[in-house]
Amino acid sequence: MIRRVALLGATGSIGDSALDVIARHPDRFAVAALAAHRNAAKLAALCRRFRPTIAALLDVEAARALAVDLAGDHLPTRVLAGPEGLVEAASLAEADTVLAAIVGAAGLSPTLAAARAGKRILLANKEALVIGGALFMRAAAEGGATLVPIDSEHNAIFQCLPEGYARDPAKAGVRRILLTASGGPLRERPLAQFGAVTPDEACAHPNWSMGRKISVDSATMMNKGLEVIEAHWLFGVPRHAIEVVIHPQSVIHSLVEYVDGSVLAQLGHPDMRTPIAQALAHPERIDAGVPRLELPALAALAFAEPDLERFPCLGLAYAALDAGGSAPVALNAANEIAVEAFLTGRARFTDIAATCAEVLERLPAHPIGTLDEALAADGEARRAARDRLGMRDGGHSLHAT
Ligand code: NAD
Ligand code: MG
Repeated sequence: MIRRVALLGATGSIGDSALDVIARHPDRFAVAALAAHRNAAKLAALCRRFRPTIAALLDVEAARALAVDLAGDHLPTRVLAGPEGLVEAASLAEADTVLAAIVGAAGLSPTLAAARAGKRILLANKEALVIGGALFMRAAAEGGATLVPIDSEHNAIFQCLPEGYARDPAKAGVRRILLTASGGPLRERPLAQFGAVTPDEACAHPNWSMGRKISVDSATMMNKGLEVIEAHWLFGVPRHAIEVVIHPQSVIHSLVEYVDGSVLAQLGHPDMRTPIAQALAHPERIDAGVPRLELPALAALAFAEPDLERFPCLGLAYAALDAGGSAPVALNAANEIAVEAFLTGRARFTDIAATCAEVLERLPAHPIGTLDEALAADGEARRAARDRLGMRDGGHSLHAT
């Protein structure tokens, strides 16, 4: 049976990797929908190549340009615009699989729609789970959706857990989950120089090629903090049983320790096509186009404890998970604002952690029961972060402290 995929975030780094794997297996996969923010030219080229039923862009002007561009092509593609267009792409009846690869909180509503519609969700958009938490897991259970993680660490853990783990986690005998982290491009940079780190330096990840937001998150290690929260929700493990270990080579993608002392790991090249192919074809295995791992060429694998003074964002994420409710929502929102300000030259690298810490301190955690409450907490934290960074609401910058 052909799996029909709705790809949210089709024009990004994960989108590229996913379409590369899908194109290798036309006998297994078809593209039902493609959705993105505003890159009409790239989406038009993808529509001509993959002939989806729906192409959706958040930006209304860009969607109009896409429709004009495709007008003479006789494609089966209907062009949609705005947030409703993304939700329609995510819940399209003809798609059985939704690959959620929008970056940031913007992915929450469409990914929730996919959960309610009972899709197989292949999840890259970790921010949706960090802010949606219980809400998202409940919607998936009620809608009959299944979740397969694509984030490489979580996909590794998924592979190291026994079949049927989700039905009865207590029986599995898991003692700890160990998330590996490369430490990013600033692992050895003198701390005194962090204030002068440029966006290009922060995005120069030693092992992975990714979008700019997650690249900055890797440099601050907020990415690993978000992944701790993601692991908590995905695998139902308490915070004290999720640990982070620095592993600069990014060959071991994560590990599961069992009560009998066994530690299972998943290894591979740092290439997202491996976890994407694993999730797309599960429970079967397919070629991902990734070269074989030659162990003798690796020579050695190293491990170390994370340094929380160097990477305060990791500690903030643990604290937000402890506080619960609105705290992870606020952390994620403050981080998105601060990273955007950093990437556009309106804040220093060190302002990212400082902004997140201050927003968490200023906004006491409260319970979140609905999507509206999550979105309200997200909005409040964004305002507080802009305030901290001296930016007008709406993204205007005055100065960075
Ligand atoms: P990217 O910036 O390369 O691509 C982001 C995609 O999301 C683009 O298609 C963009 O058009 C779309 N998008 C952005 N804002 C949007 C909005 N408001 N509405 C609709 N679409 C929007 O990012 P990426 O590196 O591909 O990462 C995507 C997600 O996957 C992130 O959540 C990231 O944390 C996660 N992830 C990425 C990697 C990786 O290797 N790139 C690995 C693990 C997890
Ligand atoms: Mg990851």
